[in-house]
Amino acid sequence: MISFVLHQGREKSLLRRHPWIFSKAVSHAQDSKTGQPADMDKVKSGTLCKVVSSDGKFLCYAHWSPSSQIVLRAISFNEEDRIDYDFVKERLRAAIARRAPLVARGDHGIRLVAAEGDFMPGLIVDRFNNVICAALSSAGMEALYEHIFRALHELEPDCYLYERSDAKSRRKENLPLRAGLVDPEDLSRAYNLRDGQGNALKDSRQISRVRRIDDGEGGSEFIELDEAVPDTLFVQERGLVHIPIDVKNGHKTGGYLDQRQSRYHTYELCRTFKTMSENCKKGPSVLNCFSYTGGFGLLALKGGAGAVYNVDVSEHALNAAREGVVENHLDPGRCKFIKKDVFEYLREQVAAGTKFDIVILDPPKFIENRSNLNSGCRGYQDINRLGMQLVRPGGRLLTFSCSGLMTEELFQKIIADAALEAKVEAQIVTTLRQDIDHLVSLPCPETFYLKGFEILINWPHGRSPGLRLQLPY
Ligand code: SAH
Repeated sequence: MISFVLHQGREKSLLRRHPWIFSKAVSHAQDSKTGQPADMDKVKSGTLCKVVSSDGKFLCYAHWSPSSQIVLRAISFNEEDRIDYDFVKERLRAAIARRAPLVARGDHGIRLVAAEGDFMPGLIVDRFNNVICAALSSAGMEALYEHIFRALHELEPDCYLYERSDAKSRRKENLPLRAGLVDPEDLSRAYNLRDGQGNALKDSRQISRVRRIDDGEGGSEFIELDEAVPDTLFVQERGLVHIPIDVKNGHKTGGYLDQRQSRYHTYELCRTFKTMSENCKKGPSVLNCFSYTGGFGLLALKGGAGAVYNVDVSEHALNAAREGVVENHLDPGRCKFIKKDVFEYLREQVAAGTKFDIVILDPPKFIENRSNLNSGCRGYQDINRLGMQLVRPGGRLLTFSCSGLMTEELFQKIIADAALEAKVEAQIVTTLRQDIDHLVSLPCPETFYLKGFEILINWPHGRSPGLRLQLPY
């Protein structure tokens, strides 16, 4: 095995069990046994290595990924571990077992493995009903491909396995883009698994072949479209509604499970408004910006919203959102689906003087890396200023940031600046965050990526609050 030796003093974050090692921290490579120097450039991407401190102490096992900024990602801090099939299966088994309470809560869409949060850097696994969708984003997880899918098949034998390893970020790791059904038979061949009678372990389901995306020159190749997984899955949330999920062509693994808790919060908020506010007898009006397949809107309607406006640039996502309303037997007359750039829509509505009881802002990541931190922050401030201007006094802004580089403290400051610009008095009613199956790694704060606030918009600057503006919390 190859050992990577770190520069003096660069072991600190690993001693704190942060799993990422950047190229600048690495001094050189050597053979673990003989201590002979090794050529770093010859170590293949995805190779399992040891990482040692400058004085030769074992720090962790990690996978090598020379083309990424993070050249090594730790998989174990225990020298006794063997990173084999049993190791992977145990990690996945433990991760899945932790989720049992969510099933009991009425959720059929669950993040089973949350990458660093479950000690598997670069691996996301979501289960939507009987479809498991995995996304592998690091060279290390790519190297463990067969272990991962074989373990998932053994742990969840009744589920179809789907792969969505087609995020552009894989290019940074020099990995091909791939998406489609995973055939457990392929894996059993790879492992030569046999049952008691010597037959290859095979699932009885008929799985038509896989759709693959080649990374060639950006070309995509369709081999055969699989029938086993429907184009839209409706996945129960909190026992209340069924959210549309598009595993094949949707974003990431098909849906955003991280917002489940905040969608439920929206449901409760709408109920409170409808039952306790004099102004909202017909149910609150809700503007759902960056709606994707309309999850927030469905829970708002279920909670008694009088009108929901879903705004997104994606026609595909809005169509799924339309289907969702029908599937849940909710009143399509109470929903609007608006295909538009949110910035543009907000500006138009501000100019028109429109007001809503609840405005939701759940934008995509505006901050990709440190170099666009400032412009990203500006983007957040702009939509929040506009969003606040659209909230009726006494109403709420539910605002989110899923940028890992945005801390909760910084986000609060941005919202405070936005309120100043919007000239409204505002208060934080509660903080919101990613749901509990998106576990946060203690040493890796980047895994606490989704931050949000429920903001109570009070009276405009320069005016006194009137009693009629008061709505209950
Ligand atoms: N709130 C959603 C998830 C939002 S994901 C949920 O709970 O499921 C972000 C969405 O923003 C995507 O659907 C994307 O199509 C949309 N989007 C990105 N930029 C946009 C823009 N400028 N205007 C409108 N929609 C945008």
